Amino acid sequence: MIQKGLLKEFQKTVGAANVFTDHADLLTYSYDAAVLEPVLPAVALRPTTGEALSKVVRLCNENLLPLTVRGAGTNLSGGTVPSAKGVVVVTNALNQILEINEADMYAVVQPGVVTAKLAAAVEARGLFYPPDPGSQAVSTLGGNVAENAGGLRGLKYGVTGDYVMGLQFFDVNGEPITTGSRTVKCATGYNLAGLMVGSEGTLGVFNKITLKLIPLPADQKAMMAVFDEMENASETVAAIIADHIVPATLEYMDNFTIRAVEAYSRVGLPVDAAALLLIEVDGHPAQVEEDAQKVVSLCKKFGAASIKVAVDAVERDSVWEARRSALSALAKLKPTLILEDATVPRSKIPDMVRAMQDISRQYGIEIGTFGHAGDGNLHPTILTDRRNKQEWEKVEAAIEAIFDKALELGGTLSGEHGTGIAKSCFLEKETGPATILYSKRVKSALDPNNILNPDKIIG
Ligand SMILES: Cc1cc2nc3c(=O)[nH]c(=O)nc-3n(C[C@H](O)[C@H](O)[C@H](O)COP(=O)(O)OP(=O)(O)OC[C@H]3O[C@@H](n4cnc5c(N)ncnc54)[C@H](O)[C@@H]3O)c2cc1C
Repeated sequence: MIQKGLLKEFQKTVGAANVFTDHADLLTYSYDAAVLEPVLPAVALRPTTGEALSKVVRLCNENLLPLTVRGAGTNLSGGTVPSAKGVVVVTNALNQILEINEADMYAVVQPGVVTAKLAAAVEARGLFYPPDPGSQAVSTLGGNVAENAGGLRGLKYGVTGDYVMGLQFFDVNGEPITTGSRTVKCATGYNLAGLMVGSEGTLGVFNKITLKLIPLPADQKAMMAVFDEMENASETVAAIIADHIVPATLEYMDNFTIRAVEAYSRVGLPVDAAALLLIEVDGHPAQVEEDAQKVVSLCKKFGAASIKVAVDAVERDSVWEARRSALSALAKLKPTLILEDATVPRSKIPDMVRAMQDISRQYGIEIGTFGHAGDGNLHPTILTDRRNKQEWEKVEAAIEAIFDKALELGGTLSGEHGTGIAKSCFLEKETGPATILYSKRVKSALDPNNILNPDKIIG
């Protein structure tokens, strides 16, 4: 329970209509897209100004109340599962695009701006904000920065962190800290923005975000290559990269996922194919033409049964609609879905695809694999029923086996979904104890009372 006096102070700060204590409201903020037990906070607050956000952070610290910031709650690692009896701060009222600067190609946004809203606003001005998580229609830019979110275009354009030019965030006392610049280059002081990207709400609370924009590519071409052998598809991925072609998008889908997507969205996918590659090249029209021809011939060389090049925007959209619906399509098949994002060096994609099949067989569980093959970031997706205890034990063992394989291949536990609660117990496997200790020292220096999203990342 929050003390009455403090609740009143919260009401004064954010307005009584933006303080939520009803059970039904609190339930809404008790979980996110990770498969974890929900935890009820004591209160949820919805500040509508930066000043109110800053004061809420200060009040939480002064009253030793754990605080979890929440954008859209779509993260897949438990980053917004609050602490019991803690405070959830929802950023969806801080949703203004404050500036789009065409001459210097940057945008300044509040943290609650929805990713796709910024992408559309800058596209209307011939500019491009490339990071495109599959959740972009609802995810927020604050959540994207805090998770260092990736997406389908990571191979060519990188991830959210590559676009963060500057930040204004509140430290644990509610003090505004400014880092970075609106210039292309900035070597002034510590790179605090680098520290804050991917910090999952554990080190500070973003209030304003400055994001780099680039010119919108003049042309693009989407292709769908169909393979009768899974191995051929994964080897084609490695061959395209080795040939120094950098598609904007290079996505993989196995047969299990193809069938689920076709049943869900009826876009005409070949349900008998062992695997598909969905590829898009973009840039100057002449370069697009040349890259598309090279991709087609590499797909044929490495055994594609057929390859279809989209002839217009409608066909292109249907390729990407198919890919974007993969998670929802798989989610319909079983009560529980666990989407992993262990990532390997790109040349190891064939080994990782083989390993997923072996793990699925070894543990007797269903795994659909799809994802950003071009940047080594596949999404093995486990379908199960969490209520089945016996199966759940096998699932947990399979997850650990996936992580172990990724590390053995020189990869990482998470390419884009973050550590949160879900992966924090595995972190040391990748980093070793010294890195954990160092991270704990950073955390305790910046948040001595451990109120900013405790239990996340380093536990
Ligand atoms: C269908 C689906 C598809 C997805 N596809 C992708 C994908 O392709 N690529 C990808 O990378 N991820 C993907 N995700 C995961 C998820 O959408 C991303 O992690 C996204 O960045 C989360 O944004 P959000 O606004 O929902 O943040 P939330 O889930 O609300 O929060 C995420 C983290 O950010 C912190 N946070 C939020 N706002 C702030 C702030 N203002 N200051 C400090 N910390 C803050 C939270 O405390 C939490 O730790 C997908 C998820 C779903 C459900």
